[in-house]
Amino acid sequence: MTFKNFDLSDKLMMGLRDLKYEEPTPIQEACIPLIFKGKDVIGAAQTGTGKTGAFVIPLLQEIANNEQDHTRALILSPTRELAQQIEEQIFALGYHTGVSSATVTGGSDYGTQVKAIRAGVDIIVATPGRLIDQMNVLNIDFSHLDYLVLDEADRMLDMGFLPDVMKIVKQLPKDRQTMLFSATMVEEVQQVVDQVMIDPVEVEF
Ligand code: AMP
Repeated sequence: MTFKNFDLSDKLMMGLRDLKYEEPTPIQEACIPLIFKGKDVIGAAQTGTGKTGAFVIPLLQEIANNEQDHTRALILSPTRELAQQIEEQIFALGYHTGVSSATVTGGSDYGTQVKAIRAGVDIIVATPGRLIDQMNVLNIDFSHLDYLVLDEADRMLDMGFLPDVMKIVKQLPKDRQTMLFSATMVEEVQQVVDQVMIDPVEVEF
């Protein structure tokens, strides 16, 4: 299996080459075709498996293929550091695609965040608490959102973010595609799955 099997754009293939990703990791091999099919996907996977690429690669492909002036994807992450790592992967892999991204987290450059969001950034990577604080201030328009990713869902719940996550999800369009990644599929995570996903397919690594 190579990335060529996924029929990715030349611009995205250039990003993969820049990062020296030669072939998909097992979780990427499983998730990428499911996400292209429009499925809600649960990835039971640890960090280090390539789980970030498993959602970033198909999102970049789909967003670049159908460029719009609205925010298309929201990725929620438990910590600022993880949000920054995800955003760095989006930036590097998507460098040639023209897909834009910004983080909404505590401690990062507020002026840059505001500017990017006002300009209608394609992908927002956020921590739940900070996003709740900023949603009204920044007047973020999620009405055209197509993709929601909950990364490290078990950690987000451990950190007490469940109420914030649910508050955010309530404001998103219902006809979106939702991906959830979690190292452990404990009962609390399953409850979130039941509330925010439709007929999800689970892959485990
Ligand atoms: P993650 O599990 O998403 O934190 O990724 C772990 C590390 O693997 C990161 O440094 C990624 O840049 C790298 N990585 C992800 N996908 C691939 C791939 N297909 N080939 C080589 N390295 C990869």
